[in-house]
Amino acid sequence: MPVPAPTMPGPAWAPPVAMLQPGLPLPARSIFEPGMGAAPVERALEIRKGQSLIALLTRAGIHAGDAHGVARELATVMDLRRLKVGEKVTLTLAGGRKPGVAGALSGLRMKKDAHTEVGVGRLIDGSFQSFERQRRLRRDPVHIRGGIVSSLYTDGVRHGAPAAVMLDVFRLFSYSVDLQRDIQPGDRFELLFDRYSEADGAVADYGEIEYAALQNGGQRLRFYRFESEPGTFEYFDAGGKGARRALLATPLDSARITSSFGKRRHPILGYSRMHRGVDFGAPTGTPIRAAGDGTVVARGWKGAYGRYIRIRHSGGYQTAYAHLRRYARGLRQGKRVKQGQVIGYVGSSGLSTGPHLHYEVLVNGRQVNPVKLKLPSGKSLKGDALARFGLHREEIDRKLLELAVGPQADAG
Ligand SMILES: [Zn+2]
Repeated sequence: MPVPAPTMPGPAWAPPVAMLQPGLPLPARSIFEPGMGAAPVERALEIRKGQSLIALLTRAGIHAGDAHGVARELATVMDLRRLKVGEKVTLTLAGGRKPGVAGALSGLRMKKDAHTEVGVGRLIDGSFQSFERQRRLRRDPVHIRGGIVSSLYTDGVRHGAPAAVMLDVFRLFSYSVDLQRDIQPGDRFELLFDRYSEADGAVADYGEIEYAALQNGGQRLRFYRFESEPGTFEYFDAGGKGARRALLATPLDSARITSSFGKRRHPILGYSRMHRGVDFGAPTGTPIRAAGDGTVVARGWKGAYGRYIRIRHSGGYQTAYAHLRRYARGLRQGKRVKQGQVIGYVGSSGLSTGPHLHYEVLVNGRQVNPVKLKLPSGKSLKGDALARFGLHREEIDRKLLELAVGPQADAG
């Protein structure tokens, strides 16, 4: 929507009030009190623990009526119960008649999240009008490539990826890779995501993973983030196949589980006829995730298994989880669960030598080796979406190549 340019000349800090129509973003420095001589004053306040916005404003000397008016209006663009302690609120006060003395509140602004600023400004009739706008942040691509020495998580962080990004990477690969047994020394990974910075260079936020690849033994997995439908972002491999599988290969939610080759304390048992499951060594309390959508068919103590959960999925599959420390709150028999939902926590209950998750996959009631299981993959892109994906993939591949090669050499 084009915003009409101001036609009336005037001081930079005092745009003509006619410009201020409801719904239009307000300029950062506006003053709505015609006739005031002095320049507006900005005051930065910090939200204290347990302090409401109204308390903050009245404490700063703002008229109670104004404080309530501002809060009521600001609540239309932001949940005021979620104010963060230490968050900065910048007030704009009209210039007072006496130099150095501030006048009435003409507006305020604050960060809603890393990318959004919200605020209110006073209109000429004295009422307040809210606004919401994108913050100006610098965006730079972050490209990381490295070899795995101990675990995907540790080595990702060692190469400069933030922990939150590595948890997402872990989740992305947890569909298709047993991240404890399948990761081998010499495996390599590559990541691409954005970093958003403030004007002073401080990191404001990291974007979603745009691309993640894992060279895992002989297989190369690579996933691209793509808007498959308006507003829906999913990950697809180079051929347009979805990253999701019916069952997770790694049903844990902790990027910190170490690869089996780097693990010494806990003996990792592989699948055998005697054992009939796979063990994930993980610290006590590590969240356990439902491997797929399904219904809880068992939840309770089961002899040597200790605290035990079994979930029935479609297609004749069931998954079982043993030696839990505790179950997720509200989880009981008959409950429906979604893939990835936390169902319990790693422990050492029953016949167990140390904290670990014993995980079984059952097909028609019999335990099978999950590693050998050929699960149907998730959705595949077709037609128009596949064509769009092809273009997107080429763009990302080109970007990766450019980032790997570095900036252009200066012309002689
Ligand atoms: Zn086991």
